[in-house]
Amino acid sequence: MKGLVWFRNDIRMDDNPSLKRAFEECDSVITIYAWSPEQLKTHNEANIKQDFLIQNLKSLGVNLNAVNVPLLIIESKSFYNVKNEIAKLIKEHSIDKIYWNKEFGLDEINRDKHVHDAIKAGGSEIEIFNDQIIYEPGFLRTGQDNPFSVFTPFKRRWVENFDMKFLDIDFDYPIKDKLNFDSNVENFNFGLSATHGVDMSLWPVGEISALDRVNDFLDNRAIDYSKNRNDPILDGTSRISPYLACGIISSKRCILEGLKKNNFELSSGNIGITKWIDEIVWREFYRNIMYSFPKVSKGKPFQDYTKNIEWISDEKNLNAWKTGNTGFPLIDAAMRQLLHEGWMHNRLRMVVAMFFTKNMLHDWRIGEAYFMQNLIDGDFASNNGGWQWSSSTGTDAAPYFRIFNPITQSKNFDKEGLFIKKYVPELLDLDKSVIHDPPLEHRKYCNYPLQILDLKESRVRAIEVFNKAKTI
Ligand SMILES: Cc1cc2nc3c(=O)[nH]c(=O)nc-3n(C[C@H](O)[C@H](O)[C@H](O)COP(=O)(O)OP(=O)(O)OC[C@H]3O[C@@H](n4cnc5c(N)ncnc54)[C@H](O)[C@@H]3O)c2cc1C
Repeated sequence: MKGLVWFRNDIRMDDNPSLKRAFEECDSVITIYAWSPEQLKTHNEANIKQDFLIQNLKSLGVNLNAVNVPLLIIESKSFYNVKNEIAKLIKEHSIDKIYWNKEFGLDEINRDKHVHDAIKAGGSEIEIFNDQIIYEPGFLRTGQDNPFSVFTPFKRRWVENFDMKFLDIDFDYPIKDKLNFDSNVENFNFGLSATHGVDMSLWPVGEISALDRVNDFLDNRAIDYSKNRNDPILDGTSRISPYLACGIISSKRCILEGLKKNNFELSSGNIGITKWIDEIVWREFYRNIMYSFPKVSKGKPFQDYTKNIEWISDEKNLNAWKTGNTGFPLIDAAMRQLLHEGWMHNRLRMVVAMFFTKNMLHDWRIGEAYFMQNLIDGDFASNNGGWQWSSSTGTDAAPYFRIFNPITQSKNFDKEGLFIKKYVPELLDLDKSVIHDPPLEHRKYCNYPLQILDLKESRVRAIEVFNKAKTI
């Protein structure tokens, strides 16, 4: 039997249920990845994420080659053309069965329906698996049989239903029959020139690097995760998000490695590890929101009343925020971290997003798109969830009158100003007593910009605008 595995957001061999099944059932296996430049653009996928994806596809190609499985990159202008490309391959290689893992973004669901119908009409068999999160999306429901829209009860239900059998994921891939053609991934013209300025040694390529990263975190930093995770200079988090976002490692593998180091306890034992697993459950929560509430994928807020908010638009302030020149040192350091690393610390994502949507009163959708265009870990569900949380338009969101003060956040989470100094070198000489909010003479001396807005006034304005939206 000959099988075709379609890689999508799961470019790995480890814990890949569709690939595993194909290996179990077929004598020979072909794998494909559809490169859709138009679709990547429509989804605002960052240049750095695309670069990372390509390097990881090449690494996957090498691993598959070792078991005689070619990886073919097929170019499909948009999502919907994929069905024609796959139909061609099925015919050309006399494929008996097609396998893939589910994606559940709105566009992806529509694409898969098209492909599914076309393949079925052609008479081939298909088998589809769930690899993205622990439970099938939409499976966990409230007592009233509704999808969850609040994290804490979702997490409770997630734990109640958890079974260690879910983590039975280890599999040794046997060598398959050799086919008479090779992978094209190494020579494929992806047509991408890397326009980002990120040093990619920060993000080593491949599944082994991802697993090493998780284990390094669990062995050396997880113990202090609860204490250090909010302090950006400490690098107290795992930085595994780019690998999860591209499917180079699975959330099951992360949870399994965490549990191995915590006597298989989910809710007790090492609080660093249990807290870290909680964060992975947040990722699952936002995927469920995306699946159960399709409006969030259509640019709509979760909280309907927030459609009435009168956002403002100020090109100069927008540009200052994007480039890290707002005159608020922590905001600027965070925005420059994004440009330098393609990544931003979670606490800072919340601080800059709240500043953008509350103090600057700019539409969250603009910030959401800018993040996607620059993040190596851009992930629609988590990014949309994070932006809607910060702008109080989302599910389980911060109350609209809770507005982080970026200077207080700076004093609390970057006490010594070391993170600021790392990314805003103009302020290198400043003492910690002034670095969080430099006085005028220091700004002049350091050639650092004045603040683009007044924090108190802008806070009052935001609350008024949200109040007004509620009454419309
Ligand atoms: C405005 C905003 C935008 C965001 N955009 C993205 C995005 O595009 N892609 C993305 O992966 N995460 C996003 N997040 C969530 C979070 O900031 C990142 O997942 C986290 O910073 C990644 O770093 P880490 O891998 O070191 O996390 P760790 O602290 O080590 O956590 C482990 C994993 O748990 C998941 N996780 C952690 N925090 C969250 C969270 N708040 N929501 C959902 N999942 C979480 C991630 O997959 C993360 O890799 C966003 C958060 C906000 C507030």
